[in-house]
Order: sequence, then structure tokens, then C-alpha cells
Amino acid sequence: MTPVPDLLDFDELLSADERAMRDSVRGFVDARIRPHIAGWYDDAIFPTELVPELAELGLLGMHLNGYGCAGRSAVEYGLAAMELEAGDSGLRTFVSVQGSLAMSAIHKHGSEEQKQEWLPRMARGEVIGCFGLTEPNSGSDPSSMTTFARRDGDGWVINGAKRWIGLASIAQIAIIWAQTDDGIRGFIVPTDSEGFVATPIAPKLSMRASIQCDITLTDVRLPAEAQLPEARGLRAPFSCLNEARYGIGWGVIGAARDSYATALSYSLTRIQFNQPIASFQLTQQKLVDMAIEIEKAQLLALRLGRLKDAGSLAPHQISVAKLSNTRAAIAIAREARTILGGNGVSGDYSPLRHAANLESVRTYEGTDEIHTLVLGAHITGIPAFRNTL
Ligand code: FAD
Repeated sequence: MTPVPDLLDFDELLSADERAMRDSVRGFVDARIRPHIAGWYDDAIFPTELVPELAELGLLGMHLNGYGCAGRSAVEYGLAAMELEAGDSGLRTFVSVQGSLAMSAIHKHGSEEQKQEWLPRMARGEVIGCFGLTEPNSGSDPSSMTTFARRDGDGWVINGAKRWIGLASIAQIAIIWAQTDDGIRGFIVPTDSEGFVATPIAPKLSMRASIQCDITLTDVRLPAEAQLPEARGLRAPFSCLNEARYGIGWGVIGAARDSYATALSYSLTRIQFNQPIASFQLTQQKLVDMAIEIEKAQLLALRLGRLKDAGSLAPHQISVAKLSNTRAAIAIAREARTILGGNGVSGDYSPLRHAANLESVRTYEGTDEIHTLVLGAHITGIPAFRNTL
């Protein structure tokens, strides 16, 4: 028995470098996350002490080129996300927010000076970034945001509020998306700016080993150089979200795999009716269904990764993986929990923690419904995001 379902010799589809990257992150998770995660989750602690170690492994902005970033392939980035999320979605989310959202925003839309100033320090984990798009009254429809940046001489003054912003209370910079007289623009806002306040959201029933905040911006004054010069309109934040969504398509498989492995191992040692519960056909059906779904999810993620590395990945294809793999992962985590019986609701076992985390994952970076509508629009040619109320 292996804790990783291996029905299809998936590893044969990976290069030696890809397997090595995967194995090094798996080793890190086993040594540094797995022994402590139940306690961090229970105590609602994000382990900031791991940030330098994640940087040392080259995981911060790992898919970006230059500026001290590791320049790894999309498949390697995906494999790393999968291994981190086998530890906990909160740790994978840290890497996604830092690398795919905050660093990507600067890498894609920033000036040369902004890239030089921030990216090397962010890759080293010395500067943490966050990404403020969602607002209290603007979630799935970010075009309705009301945070506003007005010109003030050469500079800007920003007023507004953001909600659910990962890492904001420990970040040194926030990428803030705001309306302007010329449409939506992005700004690099130092979090020690006067008028910037980040307050962690509590209590949370999901993603407890990570931080999300409310942000208020009250007359936050910024110099002209704070604006991301290449970011014009919603396409700019969406281009960053696509990077993170791609990583989620891989990451959730890790949570599913860890749930499956926990259930498999438990079922082989738990005795009821004088035999291991793994010997019951109903238990085997659950394990087989989980293993098959994990294999399918891996193949889907790898297909996307190869397309991304070839430069031909389309946004609707990212929606296929974000929607399908997250849906599969949450079903697997819940089913794994049933195999653990009453012990499945104890913090000593991971599946219910993963299932609770995956409630967030299915909601952020585009909900299940929004990705369904993206695909519906692609298939029919008819966008159904609004009706004619
Ligand atoms: P709403 O948009 O109000 O949606 C509520 C429900 O209505 C959902 O089921 C939704 O699918 C449904 N719905 C909405 N519109 C339609 C439609 N047209 N058709 C059918 N159904 C619809 N945001 C950031 O900017 N930065 C972050 O770092 C960040 N991190 C997050 C971390 C966590 C743990 C969580 C929970 C959220 C995070 N978010 C972040 C916010 C996240 O992106 C939003 O929660 C998400 O976009 C949904 O927005 P909402 O919560 O306002 O829900």
C-alpha cells in the first residue's frame, strides 16, 4: 500500500527535475509542517517562522523569471503547490498570495524600478505582500469596487475598504486595486502608510492556519511612483488571479491526497467486527473512488501545466481545473472523514481540516458558480453573469 495513489504511473509523466522539486517540498512539509499543523490550526496561528525556509526552498515567486526569482516551470510550481497543500491549504495560500498575486502584479504590471525595488526582497521573504481586490460589497463582481484613488498633484489619495485580504496584517506592502477617473488601476501601498489599517478577521472556521484581514484606507497619500504603470482595467488583477487559480488546480490535489492517505492508513488498522474496516466492500469503494478522482485530477493539472509551459494555456482551461479539482478534493476530504468515524472530527486527523479549508478554496479566486459561468459563456457564447433585473 502506498499513501499516494499510483494507479496510472503518474510519475512517468514527470521529468527528473520535476520529481526532485516535488520530493524536496514533500520532505519540507513532512519535517516542518505536518508535525505542527494541528496545533497551529487549533490556535489559529500562521507560522511566520517558516517564511525564510519557504524562501530558501525557492518557493516565493518561483515561477517568475529574473529579480532573484527561481524561474521554475509551471509544472514545478504546480507540484510544489500540491505538496504544500498536502500539509495545509493555509501554507499553500501564503505562497500563492506572495508569489502569484503580489509578486506577479509587480512582475507583470510594474515599472523596472518597482521590480528592482521589491521583487528580490519578496523572493527572499524579507518583504511580504498582499493583494487587495475584494471589498465588503464587491466580491464576485470586482467591477463594482468603490475604493477610489484620486489625483492629488503628482500623487494620489486613496479612500475605501477591502475585505478578506490574505496576509495584510503581516505584509509590508499591499497591492491595492482602486477605481480612478481613468478606470481601475493598481497601487503599491506600504502598509505603514498613514491611514492604512489591517485587522485580522476572526473567528474563522476555515483556513485557521493563515491570515485574512479587513483593510481600511483613509486618505492614504501615495507618490506617483506607487502606481503600477502597466495595470489598466480589471484585466490587470485578473491576469494575476489566473496565476493563482492555476496553482489551486494543483494545490487542492494535495489536500485530497492527504485525506485519502489518512483514511487508507486508518482503515487498515481500525478493527470492527473482528476485521480491519478496509476489508469491507463499502470502505473499499470509497477508497477506490477517491484514488481514481485523485489520479484524474493530477492528469488534468498536468495537462494545464504542460499547456502553460508551452505558453498556450487559456483562461477557460484554468476554470476547468479550478472548478473540477476543488470540487473533487472537497468530496474526497469529506468521504475520507467518514472512514475515520468519530475520530474524524478530532483535530488529530487531517481530513475535516482539509474539508474546512477547501470551503475557502472553492470560494476564493472565483467561486464554483463563477467558474461554471466562465465555462458556460465559453461553451455557449452567452455570458450569464448578469440577468436583466
Ligand atoms: P459574493 O460575490 O457575494 O457571492 C456570494 C454567493 O453568490 C456565492 O455563492 C457566489 O458564487 C454567488 N454568486 C455571485 N454572483 C453570481 C452570479 N452571477 N451567478 C451565480 N451565483 C453568483 N480577496 C482578495 O482580494 N485578496 C485575497 O487575498 C483574498 N483571500 C481570501 C481568502 C479567504 C480564506 C477567503 C474566504 C476569501 C478571500 N478573498 C480574497 C475574497 C474572495 O476572493 C471572495 O470571497 C470571492 O471572490 C467571493 O466574493 P464574496 O465573498 O463577496 O461572495
